[in-house]
Amino acid sequence: MTGTATLDHRELYRLPWTLPDNAISWLEPTSACNLACDGCYRENVANSHKPLEQVREEIAAFRRLRNSDGISIAGGDPLMHPDIVEIVRLVREMGMKPILNTNGGRLSKELLRELKQAGAYGFTFHVDSKQGRPGWKDKNEIELNDLRLQLAEMLHEVGGLTCSFNSTVYEDTLRYVPDLVEWAGKHIDLVHVMVFILYRAAVPQIPFDWYAGSKQVDMNALMYSEPGDRRVDMKAPELVAEIRKRFPDFDPCAYLNGTEKPDSFKWLLTARLGTKERIYGYVGGKSMEIIQAGHHVGTGRYLAYASPKMTSMGRTMLLLAPFDRGVRGIAKRYAGSLLSNPLRLFRRLYLQSIMIIQPVDFLENGAQNMCDGCPDMTLWNGELVWSCRMEELKQFGCWVRTVPREESGADART
Ligand code: SF4
Repeated sequence: MTGTATLDHRELYRLPWTLPDNAISWLEPTSACNLACDGCYRENVANSHKPLEQVREEIAAFRRLRNSDGISIAGGDPLMHPDIVEIVRLVREMGMKPILNTNGGRLSKELLRELKQAGAYGFTFHVDSKQGRPGWKDKNEIELNDLRLQLAEMLHEVGGLTCSFNSTVYEDTLRYVPDLVEWAGKHIDLVHVMVFILYRAAVPQIPFDWYAGSKQVDMNALMYSEPGDRRVDMKAPELVAEIRKRFPDFDPCAYLNGTEKPDSFKWLLTARLGTKERIYGYVGGKSMEIIQAGHHVGTGRYLAYASPKMTSMGRTMLLLAPFDRGVRGIAKRYAGSLLSNPLRLFRRLYLQSIMIIQPVDFLENGAQNMCDGCPDMTLWNGELVWSCRMEELKQFGCWVRTVPREESGADART
């Protein structure tokens, strides 16, 4: 049975990310992709690669509009772009960390080395069971861990790169999430971040009519409309409850709220410290606050991704114990384990993050609850826009409003 965890947002740290001052921005140099993943929100357009000059202008626009520590280079799949190495170099030269968001299908060791040399900071690999990936079709999430491990080991071999994985979570794959959390724990030395994105789509059972300005529109024109009856309202606390079935002490520490609901968890961050053998516990919000605020004081930016060097300094994080109850518990358990086997002192203690992302939610009155302080803002006609809904701008020139069905008609058009 699916349950839901009770989380009180006032007890968690609200990540300090805002529209003008954020950890990340979202660059899309192409919308071409070599896969057609279920749940993708970008139309796959062959040869839609932006010229380098346009990419340079977009990076400059990000710099002008907001502080960003890192740039997610996404798409489409960014490795489809013939000048991807140059794009990575541009981002680095313009003073930000280039993070490639890719399905990894086109990544070879040679290309990886070139990207690293050009300044790549890390990779977020999208791997899940609804990608129709050649060679991995019909594999479930657990079987796909072999592919995840191959990619993580490839990165580790080159060294110095942050390794993250994201997967979309559907009603029928929710039960695998604890397996992925467990797998990530066993590879805490290689995998630095796991991201779970709850599936969303415009489905017929959503009880709204869709309006662009005063005109009712057909959402079937958009990439993210879906004719079937699928569940599109899973929430982050439901995922937490699922994870807690296997890891009862799983304890998120920080969040981004929704634009309409302060107590919704649009980005929900959990951080844990452990070795490949054992997770010692969960870091509390105070540590996140110290890390984010400290990074901002030191660099003028909020931290996007930590380097592998930083994530392997778990023992240094224990110094935060006086400020953080979560870290105090970890320090106690770690000290106890050293007493029972002092050789453990020679094993590194790693930090690993698990992020749950809950995209747009529709409230009963038709309001759309978006991520407040959206890190994945991209550019449309020189303006910052939500990357997850850019197809609306491409198709209709404006955001689509949702109007409860019984109210639509003359009233909705006034
Ligand atoms: S608003 Fe959309 S693009 Fe922004 S973080 Fe949320 S899901 Fe991602």
